[in-house]
Amino acid sequence: MTETSELQGFYRLPMEKRREILKKATNLTDEEAGIIANTGSLPGDVADHMIENVVGGYTYPLGIATNFKINGKDYLVPMALEEPSVVAAASNAAKMARSKDGFRVTNTGPVMIGQIQVVSVPKPEEAKSKLLKSKADILKKANEQDPMLVSLGGGAKDLNVKVLASLKGPMVIAELIVNTGDAMGANAVNTMAEAVAPMVEQITGGRVFLRIISNLADRRLVRATAVFGKDSIGGEDVVDGIVYAYAFADADPYRCATHNKGIMNGVIAVGIACGQDIRALEAGAHSYASKTGRYKPLTTWEKNKEGDLVGVLEMPMAVGLVGGAAKTHPTARANIKILGVKSAIELAEVMGAVGLAQNFAALRALASEGIQRGHMKLHSRNVAISAGATGELVDLVAQRMIEEKKIRFDRAKELVTELSKQKMG
Ligand code: NAD
Repeated sequence: MTETSELQGFYRLPMEKRREILKKATNLTDEEAGIIANTGSLPGDVADHMIENVVGGYTYPLGIATNFKINGKDYLVPMALEEPSVVAAASNAAKMARSKDGFRVTNTGPVMIGQIQVVSVPKPEEAKSKLLKSKADILKKANEQDPMLVSLGGGAKDLNVKVLASLKGPMVIAELIVNTGDAMGANAVNTMAEAVAPMVEQITGGRVFLRIISNLADRRLVRATAVFGKDSIGGEDVVDGIVYAYAFADADPYRCATHNKGIMNGVIAVGIACGQDIRALEAGAHSYASKTGRYKPLTTWEKNKEGDLVGVLEMPMAVGLVGGAAKTHPTARANIKILGVKSAIELAEVMGAVGLAQNFAALRALASEGIQRGHMKLHSRNVAISAGATGELVDLVAQRMIEEKKIRFDRAKELVTELSKQKMG
């Protein structure tokens, strides 16, 4: 291990040089350094410009979820993630949703909020009305920053002002309400918030500190619904089990965290595949889930008159097709083509449907056979690989562990030795 983490001028070096230093400092073998150097489909110079101190790349498997029918249109959904079962579960759920009408999704438009924090305001309530009176000028200034967005029908559309009681006394928060079109919009909104700050200071007589987008994107919601026919999902008992599972999540934040995590399994996997800011998606999801002051499920599940299961998902979905990695990452661009979405809201709607499908699949497994059986099948292959199995040995070792109900690293190692001896003999 390195003696110091202070690597003077590391950021200025070319990628190869950085890797050399890293290799020496952390005793990487040639093979390990070579693995890190591989940027996959991302050209090295693109990777080097996306973030700082780049030394290489990191690859996820890319799977395609099948069977999705959303608003009457079929989609093949790219998903990039490391967790077994997720792609299979999404495909399976989407197949069951087809027995009725697939997924129906609506959205509230690509609207984000930019916050400007004003402190030391002599008369906060008076400042609030002054700001609202100057709304037209403030919006004009904001829109001057992004003629491109405005020409496409987007831009700053409204101004909201609130007075917050805080640990440091009252502060005035001015909020730009911005239609960001096909962009996720963080850069666009932040630029606008910074540009109007001097004007806001002048009007309020206070001092501006923060000028930044809010990831609680509650004006950029998707609402996905699906009906799962009781006969296609295993009967009315399964329907009841899922409704009980939902009631559990609604009543208990410990269960709810895992309920919502299951939704994010799908949302984030599509997000990664399509080059989205997944931290923004997570922040939006969980803050929205807490909007009532209690952490709640992002989905609801009910039984309808016919005894079928009705699921509804509602959550923020701040995604874009222009800007960010959606534009710069060649794999993200190819995945967006596979998906065939033509706008940011269409991408958001697909991701909402996938989130709902994923939640259904997890709840169905939990409410019936339990999640481990399906999970362990795929997990056993990973255990076999980490114990050194390669080629056809992977499935042989995995199969034996499943039969023995012992999916463990130590057993996998024994089996690798035993079965490879048998193969050689
Ligand atoms: P961007 O600035 O690269 O692209 C947006 C711009 O593209 C718009 O301002 C507009 O001028 C132009 N544009 C061209 N065609 C457009 C169209 N059809 N619709 C809309 N705009 C169009 O990117 P962005 O979306 O403003 O910002 C996204 C990036 O910001 C992400 O990479 C994200 O990680 C990062 N970011 C996020 C946060 C946060 O979430 N808190 C904070 C800072 C930065």
